[in-house]
Amino acid sequence: MNVLNLQPSLAGATRAELSLALAEVGVPAREIRMRTGQLWHWIYHRGVSEFSAMRNIARPLLDKLAERYTLARPEIVAEQVSADGTRKWLLRMPPKGPLDKGAEIECVYIPESDRGTLCVSSQVGCTLNCTFCHTGTQGWARNLTTAEIVGQVMVARDRLGDFPGGVAPTDGLVPSGEGVRAVSNIVFMGQGEPLYNFEGVREAIGVLTDGEGLSLSKRRITVSTSGVVPEMARLGDECGTMLAVSLHATHDPLRDKLVPLNRKYPIAQLMQACRDYPGASNARRITFEYVMLKGINDSPAEARALVKLLKGLPAKINLIPFNPWPGSPYECSDWETIERFSEIVFNAGYASPVRTPRGRDILAACGQLKSDTQRVRARARLLLEESHAVGPE
Ligand code: SAH
Ligand code: SF4
Repeated sequence: MNVLNLQPSLAGATRAELSLALAEVGVPAREIRMRTGQLWHWIYHRGVSEFSAMRNIARPLLDKLAERYTLARPEIVAEQVSADGTRKWLLRMPPKGPLDKGAEIECVYIPESDRGTLCVSSQVGCTLNCTFCHTGTQGWARNLTTAEIVGQVMVARDRLGDFPGGVAPTDGLVPSGEGVRAVSNIVFMGQGEPLYNFEGVREAIGVLTDGEGLSLSKRRITVSTSGVVPEMARLGDECGTMLAVSLHATHDPLRDKLVPLNRKYPIAQLMQACRDYPGASNARRITFEYVMLKGINDSPAEARALVKLLKGLPAKINLIPFNPWPGSPYECSDWETIERFSEIVFNAGYASPVRTPRGRDILAACGQLKSDTQRVRARARLLLEESHAVGPE
């Protein structure tokens, strides 16, 4: 007998989905809007995980909801906490049917004194095959749903005591204080290409930034793309979030190899899309990610070419030490090489683009997490560490 609980969860649902769920349990049309608002408040503002906790909704309606739905989050398969407070969760998404084991993805949290950044995934796997990326070598699985993207944030907020009345971990490694939120920033830098899951990501951003719910600021959400040029303007227009671009090379022949999508949308087109990115300004700079690959893209000439390429753009640069994986065809640049590269970038007006990686201790344990869909991507942490590097003011 199948004992799987296949009741759909409403944690992660959009307003439209909540309205539909209410209609399905027989709530009359005239009440739907009001009831949707109530559910929204309890799910996203209060973070409850049981319908019975919704005190201003009558019991019969709560019972009907509970018969059909749950408020379950993605299941935590493994959790690791670094000595510096970096946390990593391996999450299993609820199965979609009796034969579905449930996709596994991971999610990384980096705390700082006054903020915390959560790195979320947008897909299980990725179709784009960047040659330095472990996800890229594993082939395609599927897009995550809006609920599965939002669910990652809800798990993190649950675990960090970031919902009202929640209990923060007692290790003192989660930022706290008046007006400080444990999860204040989100970066779409986990698995997958967010702009290949545009609708899923856009709807998730809508849920995350709704002022009556999770209330995250759009300016504190960064979407990283490998350069899906035709979707970039839409991202700015429809989501209004910050943009990060995985550049990694300053000329087409090399970028064609590292990021094969470059053959479709070469550097000149990508740069034009960046110049046109809606809302980019000196106060809202575009982040350019540049992974440091030994002997491949790390020469002083390339640092100068990078500066030249970005001239006139409101940019910040994140130099990411390459994170090797078993069988990876590259090595990370030597520290001196990274320093020399960063100095050239610094002298051009971009401040401190490299910092020491965080969460090294749990990084080391990465390969120990058992996941049959994806090994933990420790490099997300390295990347996140860089995500606050600032450009010239
Ligand atoms: N697909 C999107 C977002 C996810 S990848 C993108 O490519 O932008 C997030 C970042 O991690 C990208 O800049 C990617 O190039 C970088 N990355 C991937 N594998 C890496 C590795 N092994 N070491 C360091 N950075 C890596
Ligand atoms: Fe996909 Fe980004 Fe990895 Fe490239 S770097 S394969 S786009 S996840």
